[in-house]
Amino acid sequence: MTRIDETRSECVFDDFKGPLTAEQAVIEANRCLYCHGAPCVTACPTSIEIPEFIRKISTGNIKGSAKTILEANIHGMSCARVCPVEVLCVGACVHNHQGVPPIQIGKLQRYATDVAYAKGWRFFEAGAPTGKRVALVGAGPASLACAHELRRFGHACTIYDKRPVVGGLNTTGVAPYKMRADRSLDEVEWILGIGGIEVRTGVEVGVSPTWAELEAQHDAIFLGFGLGVDTPMGVPGEELTGIHGAVEFIERMKLGRVSVSTVRNAVVVGGGNTALDAVRELLGLGARTVTLLYRGTEAAMSGYEHEWEAARVDGARAVWQAQPVEFLGKDRVEGVRCLRVDDDKRPVQGTEFDVDADLVLVAIGQAKLGELVSALPGVQVERGRVVVDADGACGRPKYWAGGDCANGGKEVVNASAEGKRAAQAIHRQLGVRSGGDHG
Ligand SMILES: Cc1cc2nc3c(=O)[nH]c(=O)nc-3n(C[C@H](O)[C@H](O)[C@H](O)COP(=O)(O)OP(=O)(O)OC[C@H]3O[C@@H](n4cnc5c(N)ncnc54)[C@H](O)[C@@H]3O)c2cc1C
Ligand code: SF4
Repeated sequence: MTRIDETRSECVFDDFKGPLTAEQAVIEANRCLYCHGAPCVTACPTSIEIPEFIRKISTGNIKGSAKTILEANIHGMSCARVCPVEVLCVGACVHNHQGVPPIQIGKLQRYATDVAYAKGWRFFEAGAPTGKRVALVGAGPASLACAHELRRFGHACTIYDKRPVVGGLNTTGVAPYKMRADRSLDEVEWILGIGGIEVRTGVEVGVSPTWAELEAQHDAIFLGFGLGVDTPMGVPGEELTGIHGAVEFIERMKLGRVSVSTVRNAVVVGGGNTALDAVRELLGLGARTVTLLYRGTEAAMSGYEHEWEAARVDGARAVWQAQPVEFLGKDRVEGVRCLRVDDDKRPVQGTEFDVDADLVLVAIGQAKLGELVSALPGVQVERGRVVVDADGACGRPKYWAGGDCANGGKEVVNASAEGKRAAQAIHRQLGVRSGGDHG
């Protein structure tokens, strides 16, 4: 598998949440009430049996704990680090209503899965070969979870990705203070350890092979191709040096090197989680000031409140209700001209003001890639998303989809859950008995 540059920029970041020691994990586990019908489980898109894995930690059964987690979510190791637990399991913990700090579920999950990885424990075996072949488009969490589950049923899998690195945005996008790219690659390696999943990188499906070629060679196709490039602002001056799409810039930081040590005034445009990550990343990389420009109010931001609070603590500034209308500068960007925006998000003419900027990251969304398959009869695409039913079926025989390309852009845990669910539906459709560890 491709390894990555040891001197890449993301390596300057420390682990934001940090691991628990064995003693701390047991103490924390013993605070859990092991609730029946636990709300933390309901809040988890992969329905991990949280009280069960926590109880196993409290009794010293770390292997059993890790198995409980990974049985439900094969991305349990990365999700322990990257999940927005504040709005999922931890946010739902009953302790929140009792004036007691909620259980640190993510950290406990990280403890158990880190021990499992360090000890080389493996829990799952490939099923007896069924003779069926499945193609998976994209090597992100959705396809990886789907392929792992399909292997447990015994189906042969080939994953295609146009990039040279695997893991999708879990490798190239997630903020390094949550998880660095090499940890994501460790997880991919662990998942592929089940055997029988071929990975072909540098292959853009739809170009070569074509969809017709892929269909001819496989019994089923899973679409996990995620989202596309950063959406541009579409205002004058966007071609100036120093203006980048946020996701593209973050990928360069995670896999290679970016230099912001001479940046005095960085600006990030947007109000979602990518914008908030970008703000914290620029501050961590050494930009002197970082200002968020958002056209809505602070309360209307789609980015998580806890992420903005962390960015603020790191020193971020914000200008609310500001709409960039032009980037200023000769060759390099020097500023952003904005209009004030009213409470209905309408720019107000005559309210121009300028914000200094020698680096701008535009984080207003990513292109939807549904058009890649919209010409295939039966496949429906709405507002760029591939339309699927509850099992992930696309409406064209052989085709399933999951993850960002179908849900429009959620979290790693959603992509993993949707990939696994689609694998179970594909298995039912292929109509073969499995001899694997699924029984
Ligand atoms: C900056 C950023 C930070 C994020 N941070 C978090 C976080 O902290 N926590 C969290 O839970 N989620 C986070 N997310 C969201 C999360 O990363 C995604 O929801 C998740 O990775 C989606 O998985 P996926 O498999 O659907 O798609 P992706 O991970 O995007 O993988 C899709 C893959 O398909 C490949 N591909 C595309 N087209 C083709 C083609 N034609 N042929 C072959 N391959 C193709 C791409 O190269 C890519 O590798 C973040 C997203 C971004 C952008
Ligand atoms: S809601 Fe909190 S206390 Fe109850 S089982 Fe979940 S983590 Fe434990």
